[in-house]
Amino acid sequence: YSKQNGRNGFSFYFEDLSSDSKRVLKLDGELRKAIENKDFELYFQPKISLSDNRVVGIEALVRWNNEELGFVSPAEFIPFAEETGLIIPISEIIIHKACEDLRKLRDAGYSDITMSINISSIHFQQVNFLKSIKSILEKNNTSANNFEIEMTERTVMNNDTDTVSKLVRLKQLGFKLSIDDFGTGYSSLSYLVRFPLDYLKIDRSFIQHMVSLDEKQAVVDAIIQMAHRLKMKVVAEGVESVQQLNLLREMGCDFIQGYYYSKPVPMDELIEFLQIWEVVHQEGKEK
Ligand code: C2E
Ligand code: MG
Ligand code: MG
Ligand code: MG
Repeated sequence: YSKQNGRNGFSFYFEDLSSDSKRVLKLDGELRKAIENKDFELYFQPKISLSDNRVVGIEALVRWNNEELGFVSPAEFIPFAEETGLIIPISEIIIHKACEDLRKLRDAGYSDITMSINISSIHFQQVNFLKSIKSILEKNNTSANNFEIEMTERTVMNNDTDTVSKLVRLKQLGFKLSIDDFGTGYSSLSYLVRFPLDYLKIDRSFIQHMVSLDEKQAVVDAIIQMAHRLKMKVVAEGVESVQQLNLLREMGCDFIQGYYYSKPVPMDELIEFLQIWEVVHQEGKEK
């Protein structure tokens, strides 16, 4: 009997599993509990305009701190949640929290900073995606004009009428649209012309080595030129050094995100960052 081998039959079998399978089972169980308790938090990273040193936007990044597993990176649990379909309720919780945190930002006096949210292709492809995002915004009494939606190339790669019409509808509602991690996906350039996109975010992997590798620099330069010809603005993600910053400025990049300015932080800390930023850049102007 299994009882002899553990506290109960389950733990007997559980202990026989490989550590990978244990992790997956654990993740699945804990994620389901986290969804029930809406146990996720959002951190925010500022996006800075190179032309006038203003914080024009912030990107919401989900954080999950689990009692037993500790901090689990979104790079681990988001792909897992996409496989199991749990991404849909998680994504709805994230959008809801984004609305709540936006209110805090507005209450602190920051009325024109837009908030980016990352949307999974699985959620985007749901038949009722538009309905679901609209109803969360309505419940929170906020408008799409406050938000930017970040999607990867994978999400918009399907060049079907459904994808096109969804993107057009999102634009009509007032959302700004960004392609995230640009350059790492399937990079079919045809969609860039066909879709109503506002921003390209150059993937961190290009920025990371652009100072020492000429090839990476060439790619970054080409992306910026192309985006501008297509009337899109460019965001460089993962900027960590002043050398990277200066190169990007020379190349005409529009916006910068990265540890050089700030790591993602909770809303209260972001508001402190904004207050300090204002003081520093106000003084700069008066001199
Ligand atoms: P992403 O949307 O491309 O986000 C950028 C990632 O780079 C974030 O990691 C951010 O913390 C990190 N980062 C920003 N600046 C720097 C830098 O200067 N250096 C380095 N080394 N890293 C930097 P994070 O928060 O761990 O998120 C990883 C990925 O997980 C995101 O990539 C996104 O694909 C996904 N993700 C995060 N939050 C959400 C969410 O709310 N919804 C969905 N669907 N996906 C999310
Ligand atoms: Mg993103
Ligand atoms: Mg990215
Ligand atoms: Mg990424």
